Amino acid sequence: MCGIVAYLGTREAPPILIEGLKRLDYRGYDSAGVVVIKGGGLVVRRSVGRIAALEEKLDAQIAGARVGMAHTRWATHGAPTEGNAHPHRDASGRLAIVHNGIIENYRVLKQYLETQGITMESQTDTEVLAKLIGHFYEGNLEDAVRRALRESRGTFGIAAIHADEPNKIVAARRGSPLIVGVGDAEYIIASDAAAIVQHTSQVIYLADNEVAIVTPEGFKTTNLEATPVDKHVDELEYTLEQLELGGHQHFMSKEIFEQPESLRTCMRGRIDLDDSRVVLGGLTSVARELINTKRIILTACGTAWHAGLVGEYLIEELARIPCETEYASEFRYRNPVIDFGTTVLAISQSGETIDTLAASREGRDKGALVLGIVNAVGSTIARETDAGVYLHVGPEIGVASTKAFTGQVAVLAMLAGFLGRRRHLSHERLHEYLEALAGIPEKIAHTLNLNNQCRHIAADFVNSENWLYLGRGIQYPVALEGALKLKEISYIHAEGLPAAEMKHGPIALISEDMPVVVLAPRGHWYDKSVGNIEEVRSRGGRVIAVATEGDTEIQHIAEHVLYVPDVPELLGPLVTVIPLQMLAYHAAVLRGCDVDKPRNLAKAVTVE
Ligand code: GLU
Repeated sequence: MCGIVAYLGTREAPPILIEGLKRLDYRGYDSAGVVVIKGGGLVVRRSVGRIAALEEKLDAQIAGARVGMAHTRWATHGAPTEGNAHPHRDASGRLAIVHNGIIENYRVLKQYLETQGITMESQTDTEVLAKLIGHFYEGNLEDAVRRALRESRGTFGIAAIHADEPNKIVAARRGSPLIVGVGDAEYIIASDAAAIVQHTSQVIYLADNEVAIVTPEGFKTTNLEATPVDKHVDELEYTLEQLELGGHQHFMSKEIFEQPESLRTCMRGRIDLDDSRVVLGGLTSVARELINTKRIILTACGTAWHAGLVGEYLIEELARIPCETEYASEFRYRNPVIDFGTTVLAISQSGETIDTLAASREGRDKGALVLGIVNAVGSTIARETDAGVYLHVGPEIGVASTKAFTGQVAVLAMLAGFLGRRRHLSHERLHEYLEALAGIPEKIAHTLNLNNQCRHIAADFVNSENWLYLGRGIQYPVALEGALKLKEISYIHAEGLPAAEMKHGPIALISEDMPVVVLAPRGHWYDKSVGNIEEVRSRGGRVIAVATEGDTEIQHIAEHVLYVPDVPELLGPLVTVIPLQMLAYHAAVLRGCDVDKPRNLAKAVTVE
């Protein structure tokens, strides 16, 4: 999911590789590495943390090479340690690869390789692929790469070199991006044009399951079956900055639009529709204890706490296990009652949120089973918990969380299905639910079409200093999340409420200066939500409703209606939150705020 740069040409490779990695820096990473072909063999350097740390390791041994590859890693399998950093080598040590993405069937491949006497040195899926390519190697690198990739499931952008074929790089992709830059007597292969644009504007975009072979004589492209594929050389048209942001003005907007893809990655390999099963590999070791749990405490801060609230609805409804969602900062100091059979679920994007970490320690010290739901692999919460599930949504750069929220909800939705089936859900009901969940990325893609409408609505209300967000049932946490997004980045005051609470006080605030966002998708809370819209309207308030496509009635009572696709009620938050993210985004842009770095906020809250 992070960065690849590979070079073959007449110039010195290491400085070009390092500069390329720096161009990809904005994507976020946790470790880095480089490999070159020199003196008849491979020279590898790897380090944890910043690229500068890797640069310090580039000694005389590595200098002068003309062929090499570099990588920044966003760990998905195995902690961000030097041993897990890329490049990874085959058993002979003469072949190396760098890889972005996830090899889903790495366990099976690993078992096979182990029966062949090949052992792994790291915890990564990537090393398994490197060893597999090496296992198939018979003197021709592209043949071995194609063969290994035919056996691999999942996503990859890879580049490979072999010391026996010192003038060749083989690159391939499926799912993860990979571009071949064609320069003057040189090639720069990268996961992102940002690392190519300063060298050449001539590029070849590889399509899924295509392989490129570059040598000083030229390039060839084939599919995985070795059939040649004709490729055009295209002209790059973007500036560096545009490239980094993929055409978006801010990372937040990029990340909002990434959600169909990030959720596909999050759920990839975890929902097995053929067998109607949820496969959460990270929970295997604790599955029995978890299934028998008597109570679940979800603990988190901010946006993750809202995801936890959605999770509470999902788990209670599908698995009938009593749940409570607690602010980590309160939980840690409250001397909470944790009986035998309690599971504590700590949710944090960074895995470093200090209050959530302390809450999970409190759970551990009191004897609970403690699980983590985090995005950053190898982070402290991931290491300290008994087991867990990674989000796999890729690095989130915008401070206001968007794709991590939907990732957290999707993981909790999978967990609820997993527990539900083991407690009381029928095979059929689970199948139906999982089918709908697997279809959510497409529904979100459709929901993103609301972007322009959200911009117009935001423009209409951008001078209102107070907004209210109302939701019922599983939409109540979405109301909280919508309000939080608006506050965080546009500095407009907003409050989220369970809709029925309005008449116990906040209704006094309603006036025509107060936009009220009401979550009213179809479902068993619908009529009540319509009632709340009427209450607001009759007091002169202005309503922005989020409703289900086809609900034309609601247009008569709401000033604006944002239509989202019809999805099962329990999965509603995954689509209704999208227009709220976009409303907040546009309001902040219109107010001239620094969207990606809002004042006073930090991405990972590692202090109390
Ligand atoms: N799955 C690989 C790993 O964890 C690649 C991660 C990446 O895309 O950076 O090492």
